[in-house]
Amino acid sequence: MKALSISALSVAAIIGASFLSADSAAPAAAALQPDKVAQDAMTPDTVLADLKAGNKRYAADQLSNPDLKPRIAKATEGQFPKAYILSCVDSRVPAEQVFDQRIGDVFVGRVAGNIENDDQLGSMEYAAAAAGIKLIVVMGHESCGAVKGACDNVQLGNLSALLQKIRPAVRSVEGNADKTSKDKAFVAEVVKNNVKMTVADIRTRSEVLADMEKAGKIKIVGAYYSLKTGEVTFL
Ligand SMILES: [Zn+2]
Repeated sequence: MKALSISALSVAAIIGASFLSADSAAPAAAALQPDKVAQDAMTPDTVLADLKAGNKRYAADQLSNPDLKPRIAKATEGQFPKAYILSCVDSRVPAEQVFDQRIGDVFVGRVAGNIENDDQLGSMEYAAAAAGIKLIVVMGHESCGAVKGACDNVQLGNLSALLQKIRPAVRSVEGNADKTSKDKAFVAEVVKNNVKMTVADIRTRSEVLADMEKAGKIKIVGAYYSLKTGEVTFL
């Protein structure tokens, strides 16, 4: 519960926010991205519903208007985002677009194979305890190259150590069968298990986040992105 003792003043300093600005902003501009009032009214479940609705728009090729220029201008007032998405670096999985989110809406942490590490955990703790997000989504995806590399035990420079972090998920699915990335169903199962194990690891390795989840302040969920349809399934 250490992080929860951060004072409102220091939180404002950390995220560069002015609480007064939310009240003084013009109504039209205030609707462009979450302000403190809007963020305080969110719950983990309403944010999850928001992301699901955004993914439906994305998969239906009906993304909302980005209003880019006014959103860029409003960004100087601080940030009150709703979620943290831990995603793969894959070029085919653009995290903000996948959930139809815009400037000021979500933090995105991207690393091959969407595994958690010390720096991702620190970033999530900042996002949750200091910046007020309500939901952490760990999102794996169909035909993930990092997962395929882990399935085949690829060795390449610094990548080898990263792939080792995915190996427990590979072993959890293959047992003694010694399968390879040519087996698409096998790869899909490893991707999903890797997501589930990452969610469990986040809870085990971060007391800050585990305590916040127990208190109902955040939720940590897993998800699977289909390259074929653009649809996200929550696991
Ligand atoms: Zn990937």
